[in-house]
Amino acid sequence: MIEYTSLLKNYNLFKDEYEEASLRALRSGWYILGPELEGFEKAFAKYLGVKHCIGMNSGTDALILAVRALGIGSMNSDMGGSEYDEVIVPAGTYIASVLGITENGAKPVYVDCDADTLLINPKLIENAITEHTKAILPVHLYGQSCNMDAIRAIAVRHNLPILEDCAQCHGSKWNEIMAGTGGTLAAFSFYPTKPLGALGDAGAVVTNDDEIADKLRMLRNYGSRVKYHNESIGRNSRLDEVQAACLYVGLKHLDDTNQIRIKIAEKYLTLIRNPKVKLPYKDPHATHVYHLFPVIVDDQKKFQSHMEKAGVKTQVHYPIPPYAAECYQNTFAGVENGETLYPNADYIAKHEVSLPIYSGMDMEDVEVVIKAVNNY
Ligand SMILES: *Cc1c(COP(=O)(O)O)cnc(C)c1O
Repeated sequence: MIEYTSLLKNYNLFKDEYEEASLRALRSGWYILGPELEGFEKAFAKYLGVKHCIGMNSGTDALILAVRALGIGSMNSDMGGSEYDEVIVPAGTYIASVLGITENGAKPVYVDCDADTLLINPKLIENAITEHTKAILPVHLYGQSCNMDAIRAIAVRHNLPILEDCAQCHGSKWNEIMAGTGGTLAAFSFYPTKPLGALGDAGAVVTNDDEIADKLRMLRNYGSRVKYHNESIGRNSRLDEVQAACLYVGLKHLDDTNQIRIKIAEKYLTLIRNPKVKLPYKDPHATHVYHLFPVIVDDQKKFQSHMEKAGVKTQVHYPIPPYAAECYQNTFAGVENGETLYPNADYIAKHEVSLPIYSGMDMEDVEVVIKAVNNY
């Protein structure tokens, strides 16, 4: 059976380096907010070409604190009354993009996806802007960068900050704009499966803005700059020394591991030939680091069981869009009388299947996947 992914195979690529780095951190006797984190933050900021990187303990926390640092939401602004601050977000994304908004008492305003790129459709963003809009939150989903030229033009026109969700796109670009550097700030996840993954939970926010960076360092540390002096309602959201040491190793190899997945994707793109399987579309201006390899099929269940019988595990990203999630049905639902308000996001949720793609994948397995898809 070909697994959908194997963290162990990814780990084994750099096993000795990970183990040396972890031992160094373990034996240092210093586990939180120390030199390993500082070293990784500096290196990741330099890699992206951005001034500040602030480590957090997950991508979800990075999103929550990034929204908070912008002063968005009922918890953070003194607007009073019952009007929500609004943040524009794609209708098709992982729910954590939206949790970052609602955790601050702000309202997600969904914009439908493009049927080809599967990303937020920039042409629909302007229509969703109201007097309450406080930010635009594009998600570079599956590893492909959104059209940042188009999104930046809208943000400038309306004087809105851009918060990028970069959980799946480490090292991806739109033209020469590195994902995570095209807006005001960006949230990264280093969940183990992500293009740059820790060996546990981790995340970060990056920004060129000194004031925002300063605020984020305070927010991740109980809202205090000076011990026991809490000026903001913060969290405990720090990236620990062992994970930081491992991330430093992963970062050194990031371009290479991205390249491995790009090579696998190129094989899929050239050798898969099946009219019932629509391959991912990459905009010529975008880099795609293929965190995932999403195909669109006629019948999700039928395709997945065909693949399973051929010995290949697949997954769906994501079967229930956030606007249809149970937790938002009383507040921020995007479904009316059982009908979706976002036809493309709904279609993607019902027809997307992700093929196995990861840096530790055996090349013979890639051939098996191709054959199995072509036989569908
Ligand atoms: C993984 C992911 C997150 C959340 O990151 P965690 O580190 O798992 O909290 C947020 N947004 C997207 C698009 C993701 O894929």
